[in-house]
Formats: sequence, C-alpha cells, structure tokens
Amino acid sequence: MKIICIGRNYADHAKELNNDIPAEPVIFLKPDTALLPKKNPFFIPDFTNDLHHELELVVRINRIGKSIEERFASRYYTQVTVGIDFTARDVQKACKENGLPWEKAKAFDGSAPIGEWVDLGDRDIQNLNLELKKNGQTVQLGNTRDMLFGVNRLIEEVSKYFTLKIGDMIFTGTPAGVGPVQRNDELEAFLSDQSLLKLRIK
Ligand code: MG
Repeated sequence: MKIICIGRNYADHAKELNNDIPAEPVIFLKPDTALLPKKNPFFIPDFTNDLHHELELVVRINRIGKSIEERFASRYYTQVTVGIDFTARDVQKACKENGLPWEKAKAFDGSAPIGEWVDLGDRDIQNLNLELKKNGQTVQLGNTRDMLFGVNRLIEEVSKYFTLKIGDMIFTGTPAGVGPVQRNDELEAFLSDQSLLKLRIK
C-alpha cells in the first residue's frame, strides 16, 4: 500500500504559502508507516517546532491500474474519507530553501491519519465540503470544487508514473487555513458535515 499526496491543489492554499499556482499536479509520497493506527493519539515529533495540519479529501483506490485516462478514472474508487497531511513546516521550509526533497517534513511516522471510509455513492466527488475543527473552532473549510486538478485528473497524472494498486490512497491537497497544532489540541475532521476523524495531539 502506498500513500500518494498532491501539493498545492487549491489556489487559496498555494497563495497562503506564497507558492505559485502549479501548471501540473505536484506529487509526493508517504510510506505506509505514515498511517496512524486507529484511535492512537498523534505525538508531535521532537524534530519540529511548527507542526501544521492540512485537511484533505482522501480517495481509496479499489482496482489495479496504470496509465489511466481521466475519463475512466472514476472506475478506480468508490470510497473516500478525510485525512490530515501533517507537515513539519519549519523542516519543509529548510528543505525547500535548499532545493531538497521534503519527505522529512511530511512522510514521518504517523503523518497521515485518516478517518473512516465512506461510500461516495451518487455524490459528486467535485462538490464535497471539507471541514476541520481545532478545539471546537473551525480552522479549515473548503469544497472539492475548488481543486485546481480534480480527482480524476489526479488519477490520470499519478498513474502515468506509479501503478495504482488496491488499497492505495491519494491525499488530494488542502484548502486554505493550514495552521499549527500543539499538545492537547483536539482535531475533528468532517466530510459533508459527517464527523469521520477525531484526533488528540500529544
Ligand atoms: Mg497537503
């Protein structure tokens, strides 16, 4: 199982980090050890002083495929959830400044907690509300219609490079509102008003 992540997929988030709007999807990976076992708390790693939450729609791949065309991509998933692409923003900044890969900042153990999977059903994957609350206050609110590259286009792009297998996950990028988390914070993530993920920060 692999975790494929998309960066800068919402214009308002690219702007808040002073990044350019990408001409094609920005792709990176997290290893399977980035998944946080269900019900485990999230421990802030020692190597960062600026850990950020990034709320994202996560799509579960349910068929094997390679070089999938966008028009057929919807056949490759039926379930979605919300996840947090935890990012050590200080470490990422140093990596970016030095032109280095940013896995240390984004792919560490437990950096990819996900919620309960739900069936997409007949809902439009490009019209889903995402919301993240920190200690009961809304900190991120977005809709998948604002993605720069829609899910099917992402599957086309990703599968040019990587064979997709059953159980692979795609983190599809975060809307604006990313920000720091601290010890004892409680995060709760919603998809279309349904609470799918609760996380305590230690
Ligand atoms: Mg992200």
